[in-house]
Amino acid sequence: MRRLSIVSAVIALFGLSLPATASVPVGEFVFPQDPDVTEFHPTFNAPKPDGRRHKGIDLMAPKLSPVFAVADGVISKTGAGGRSGNIIKIDHGNGVQTWYLHLNNDSPGTDDGRGGRTWAFAPGLEEGSQVLAGEFIGYVGDSGNAEGTSPHTHFEIRIEGVAVDPYPYLLQGWNAWWDESITLLHLSDELMEGAALDFFLATQRHGKLSRDD
Ligand SMILES: [Zn+2]
Repeated sequence: MRRLSIVSAVIALFGLSLPATASVPVGEFVFPQDPDVTEFHPTFNAPKPDGRRHKGIDLMAPKLSPVFAVADGVISKTGAGGRSGNIIKIDHGNGVQTWYLHLNNDSPGTDDGRGGRTWAFAPGLEEGSQVLAGEFIGYVGDSGNAEGTSPHTHFEIRIEGVAVDPYPYLLQGWNAWWDESITLLHLSDELMEGAALDFFLATQRHGKLSRDD
């Protein structure tokens, strides 16, 4: 395989024998949003007002900007409701999942909560769908208990159900995004095409949006 799975990255970072500065396979993890419009901070495990801990990292970005799969996998859940709001879970195999919460729930240009699946998830995305690293999967929003906050994706990495700190991966993906040589390494030709196409389609959709609105 040209690309190691996210599991390899997790092992490299959290393995017993490797220091954090060991040669983490850079580029196996695609940053899940457009870094140009995304802001994030190391808030994993931060205490929350209700006594719970923050099990992910919030990726602040404009409503309806695209969200991408960080690695190849199978959609194990797309759903709505509760604190999570519109949510996608991707199963990457070997017990590793990534979760994307608070995806958009509004009609474009509103905060009406009536966006439905159309404005939450990529067209045709459903449980069982296979996705590639960098593939467009959904839209940034403020659903669930993020209603009333700035739009963001609450992003989690779960290993055997246990949340681990996504921050090192996000940093890695962030840096790789800007490094053309690494980008070429981690996005093989066909993936580059797929990711670029998906991003283009998402952008086109935004273009249509702004004209319609
Ligand atoms: Zn969060």
